[in-house]
Amino acid sequence: MIRTRFAPSPNGPLHLGHAFSAVVAHDRARKAGGEFLVRIEDIDTGRSRPYLAQQALDDLVWLGLEWQGEPVRQSARLASYGQAARQLREAGLLYPCRCTRAEIAAAATGTGPDGPVYPGTCRGRDIDPLGVAWRLDMEAARARSGPLEWLDEIAGPQVARPERFGDVVLVRRDEPASYHLAATLDDAADGITHVTRGRDLFEATHVHRLLQALLGLPVPVWHHHALLVEPDGQKLAKRRGSPSLADRRGAGEDGLALADALRDRRLPAGISFG
Ligand code: GLU
Repeated sequence: MIRTRFAPSPNGPLHLGHAFSAVVAHDRARKAGGEFLVRIEDIDTGRSRPYLAQQALDDLVWLGLEWQGEPVRQSARLASYGQAARQLREAGLLYPCRCTRAEIAAAATGTGPDGPVYPGTCRGRDIDPLGVAWRLDMEAARARSGPLEWLDEIAGPQVARPERFGDVVLVRRDEPASYHLAATLDDAADGITHVTRGRDLFEATHVHRLLQALLGLPVPVWHHHALLVEPDGQKLAKRRGSPSLADRRGAGEDGLALADALRDRRLPAGISFG
């Protein structure tokens, strides 16, 4: 049975791009007689706001999207992230890092899909592992995983190339996991068969595929959909004046009609697929 999810981070209000993403995930499952889940990615305690999580759920109801069961909250799953990190650490695949963002930017050996590639400064250093970030030793991880592939329903078969990211952070200094680790574990825990999300996360999938191999997790199919953009080609964002879904809802707009328009790829004036 097909199972998809929509996984908003409650650190800002949802906008039209999120609505499209949720409609795609919902319909992908429902048309195949499957299930659609909602996951609140509230692991970033510094930026997450409970009222934004509730607002996101209200937005989905307004759009007429029904999900299966109770929404999953990452904040309730911290123990499972800690356990996976321990497993990777015991396998010798993580090392502690206490470099600051500025130090990394200054010493970076290049730019990867996620920004500056970490130069490996802390690899092999004797570091007190308290209050530090933990990075994946990419070379060791690749030696262990061997070649990997993954399938995107839209873009077709892909050869995994996570090494372009360098030694990614899997456990943040202030959080028990990074997005990469938490999302990968949750998709497995929830039995997600089709990971539907925006094309902006396409590259991250190379890292997720590697983590699945290292942790012995099932491998889903991915579906990276097109992004909605402003006339200047930039992603929609409230700070650039795109009204949030809550704004639209508050102004009396019909959410069901909006969801249908998105299904038919009919977009409001000025918005297009990037
Ligand atoms: N929480 C992420 C976001 O709001 C989405 C993560 C995912 O779909 O894997 O951008």
